Amino acid sequence: MTDYDYDLFVVGAGSGGVRAANLAANQGARVAVAEVRHFGGTCVNLGCVPKKLLVYAAQFKDDFAAAAGFGWTLDNASFDWPSLIANKNREVERLQAVYQHHLQQSRVTIFNGKVQLLDAHTVAVAGAQCTAKRILLATGGWPFVPDIAGKEYIVTSNDMFSLDKLPERIVIVGGGYIAVEFASILNSLGVDTTICHREPKLLAGFDEDIRDFLATALRKQGIKILFDCDVQSIAAAGDAYNVRLLNGNTMVTDLVMYATGRTPNSRGFGLEQLGVALDDNGAIIVDSHYQTNLPSIYALGDVTDRVNLTPVAIAEGEALVNSLYAMQQRPVDYANIPTAVFCQPNIASVGLTEAKARQQYTDIDIYKTEFKPLKNTLSGKDENTLMKMVVDHATGKVIGLHMVGADAPEIIQGMAVAMRAGATKALFDSTIGIHPTAAEEFVTLQQVGT
Ligand code: FAD
Repeated sequence: MTDYDYDLFVVGAGSGGVRAANLAANQGARVAVAEVRHFGGTCVNLGCVPKKLLVYAAQFKDDFAAAAGFGWTLDNASFDWPSLIANKNREVERLQAVYQHHLQQSRVTIFNGKVQLLDAHTVAVAGAQCTAKRILLATGGWPFVPDIAGKEYIVTSNDMFSLDKLPERIVIVGGGYIAVEFASILNSLGVDTTICHREPKLLAGFDEDIRDFLATALRKQGIKILFDCDVQSIAAAGDAYNVRLLNGNTMVTDLVMYATGRTPNSRGFGLEQLGVALDDNGAIIVDSHYQTNLPSIYALGDVTDRVNLTPVAIAEGEALVNSLYAMQQRPVDYANIPTAVFCQPNIASVGLTEAKARQQYTDIDIYKTEFKPLKNTLSGKDENTLMKMVVDHATGKVIGLHMVGADAPEIIQGMAVAMRAGATKALFDSTIGIHPTAAEEFVTLQQVGT
């Protein structure tokens, strides 16, 4: 029997890698993890966590504006970006330390450095060579920047978390959740914000009603949205930039952010030389057990480019380790994964969109409501909430839930449990609401057209 240094060598200490490493070590495996940048990976350092902290900062603008309607007078409220970033950095550093601490507690060996794969059982990192029975690639993704003239001026979400100061104007290229979230944050913090998106709608993959509703809501807040719009080139013009569009128009701005997708982190550390199979986008191809075409090499999370969310990477890490070291087959259920966009207003969804449901079911019922939330009666804010439910007519089962409005992610998280349990519309209807809330509307929804 070959004597390897480790049972499992994990490459990347992000959401999926850390969970897999800790769990495997707790099952008695000899585990090492290597990280080239920051412990906690994208979510902790350049994704979910710092993003949500900026979202909280941005929401104060609305709260301050609403306060007068509730009798408050606020004088001289002002915002300081460097203070926010310094406080955010402190929290991120705390979380990095927590991640490292948990790994140390689990007796995982930690390497700081970039891993190179030498063969199917050997890695080089930080001047050392180690062998492992299995290697797990959890190397995440990286923002994609197109090869256009002036691409050196482009910033991505990675850079936004450490800007020295806020620009006066920004052009955000892209229409996915990262583009929309940053547009909301920056607009609320006083930046003149333009979204330039090559498609006719934002948020591909979301329900059409949600996509239309969102564009109207963002425009109402002053965000400019240019659809069917793409950038040809960017040129420096003093401290600003001239952004030339494919349609011949030019925009002048202080910052150009691209949020046009993310590329799996699979190149430049030996995968190609070993013959690990990648798809056209560079995603590592794995089977349902996260195994690549080389049996000793596994991959999960964003580098496999399937459902690129932190809880999914974590669930995949758990499923893999449970099957390898605990003899438990508990595969991840990829159906009905709830998801959110932390823009203003919030968006959250679980299950099928109306369009997808029409493809998969012969007969569906649509329930929908749009209303002014109670808070906005006094706040004076001109913003409604939208809720939508998609139901399989034959069984009455709820197969899709969609919401735009305050706290949508908090509400939909609970609803997702009901949906996974197979809740029917009748069950929703028989559930007593909590009054007065927005969420209670989900248990009193009327069919469209009735
Ligand atoms: P990662 O967390 O990216 O970790 C990969 C790690 O591998 C990195 O730390 C990297 O440095 C390291 N690495 C790469 N190559 C090597 C190498 N050769 N050697 C050593 N180390 C290496 N998800 C949500 O669920 N909710 C959200 O609200 C959300 N918001 C987001 C906002 C933004 C702006 C972004 C960019 C992402 C967001 N995500 C969100 C997605 C989420 O961050 C990812 O799905 C998640 O982090 C994926 O985890 P992972 O373990 O696959 O990879």
